[in-house]
Amino acid sequence: MHEICADSCALFLDVDGTLVDIQPTPNDVFAADGLVSTLQDLMVRLNGALAIVSGRRIEEIDRILSPIHPIAAGVHGVEMRRAENGTIETGEPTFSHSLLRALQNLKDASPGIVIETKYAAVSVHYRQAPEMRAWLEDNLRRLISAHHQDMELGQGRMVFEIIPRGTSKGRAVRDLMRLPLFAERIPIMIGDDSPDLSAVHTATEMGGYGLTVAGEFFAKEVSYFNGPAHVRSWLRDFSRQSHVILP
Ligand SMILES: [Mg+2]
Repeated sequence: MHEICADSCALFLDVDGTLVDIQPTPNDVFAADGLVSTLQDLMVRLNGALAIVSGRRIEEIDRILSPIHPIAAGVHGVEMRRAENGTIETGEPTFSHSLLRALQNLKDASPGIVIETKYAAVSVHYRQAPEMRAWLEDNLRRLISAHHQDMELGQGRMVFEIIPRGTSKGRAVRDLMRLPLFAERIPIMIGDDSPDLSAVHTATEMGGYGLTVAGEFFAKEVSYFNGPAHVRSWLRDFSRQSHVILP
């Protein structure tokens, strides 16, 4: 265990399954009481060195965390907001109509599938139709190789993501660590899912910590946190203490 000065850290936080509890559909999630004020306290505490790193679009993150507009990497880093309340840099929409039409056909074949377009990426949620997973993966791989070899298939908790090749949360964290607000700080990444692994590894490689949250991807035995409520109480303590104990 290491005791480090809370003021010398930078926090990188995933949203779904980390800060907020997973709900039946992505639109149902909400910030639990006290979460937003904890984040506000942390932003002051860390002198601005706090960023949200999510697969969601930044405008969605803002809706969930209203009224704050923190530094954020959205859509796994396709969208970037490098200053609190700053403008959002967005990747170019690169999807062909033929791919979108093909995705619509998949959805028509299985009504439980939810397709979410995010400019330069698409999420295909199957939480309402988990039995479709293998069928969906086969079809999505086939569509990408036919239409978009510049894209790749990512996976998360009950979701497939078609994202520009080379995009990752790890790259987003490395990018944000170049900002003056983050320079010289110890990065701490907290995440619950497969796309967070690259950011967990990046934080560790940069001399920091990658802390995982138990759920459908990480088992409780290997996770630092047992769920989002545990993350929220840890963050609340972090915002009030001068030192933090890390593994
Ligand atoms: Mg997550």
